[in-house]
Amino acid sequence: MPVAVASRAVGGMLLCALVIAGAITHPFSARADDPLKVVTTTGMIADAAKQVGGEFVTVRALMGPGVDPHAYRQTRSDIVALAKADLVLWHGLYLEAQMEDVMQQLRAKQKVVAVAESLPKNLLVSHDDYANKFDPHVWMNPNLWSRVILTIRDALIAARPAQETAFRSNAKKHLAELARLASYTTKVLASVPADSRVLLTAHDAFNYFGSAYGFEVIGIQGISTESEAGLKRITDLVNTLVSRRIGAVFVESSVSDRNIRALIEGAAAKGHTVVIGGELFSDAMGEPGTYEGTYIGMIDHNTTIISRALGGSAPEKGMLGKLS
Ligand SMILES: [Zn+2]
Repeated sequence: MPVAVASRAVGGMLLCALVIAGAITHPFSARADDPLKVVTTTGMIADAAKQVGGEFVTVRALMGPGVDPHAYRQTRSDIVALAKADLVLWHGLYLEAQMEDVMQQLRAKQKVVAVAESLPKNLLVSHDDYANKFDPHVWMNPNLWSRVILTIRDALIAARPAQETAFRSNAKKHLAELARLASYTTKVLASVPADSRVLLTAHDAFNYFGSAYGFEVIGIQGISTESEAGLKRITDLVNTLVSRRIGAVFVESSVSDRNIRALIEGAAAKGHTVVIGGELFSDAMGEPGTYEGTYIGMIDHNTTIISRALGGSAPEKGMLGKLS
């Protein structure tokens, strides 16, 4: 049996065993004033749940800093946490490709919400590799992410109706912060000279960013990190860098920088200097407890680094002077 299938089977069996053993939270076992136990896949969703849930929730993200959600496979302790959660929030849109089966099983027993799947289809970018699927990287546009915040708010209200007022008020406050982030992002990215608005990164996580802010986006790998970039792809991209005089490319915290380094070496061999413009947070946030470990800090970091590396102007420490 291939490893992937074996591990999925183990996940399924463990989940069934937990259901039979009664480990899944029984509605009468939790007190109404206990914090709601929320388990999320990505850090971005966890941050949103904390912002909206405030003191009435405890939130655990299964995927920490530097973790690639396209490739992540649940561990045994993840399955236990999922089974005990009052509410499970995952991204959907095929982002967590290896966790689809477990989420589908869980949905039969528990409150499980795929938060990005509530977005209207006309706002989504179609997927390169699958005709009937969409690009999942919607958090790259704060205005789209704001819509996801509303879905998370509504999921929290459905799970804990008694706290509706608090959840609505927290969400309103967070949406105001996101509106400020969106306006900062628009402003500093507009300062990048038009010829330099090319964002070359390890994988195609920035399509929503590109369409929101007028950047051409080139990912070495596709929308998922599952496919490897071939030698021909690298050679073509080296030619693009050289012919268009692109001076900076970006590495990502959750994807290997091997391909990016191959590009820089390839361009150097042709007499064109390319530098690493910085490390972007694409599919995972920074360390917990840091500013970059929040959604706002993540986007502020990306925006500020991209603008400065490509000839635009942005404050060195970002929107709030908090970047490290
Ligand atoms: Zn991605």
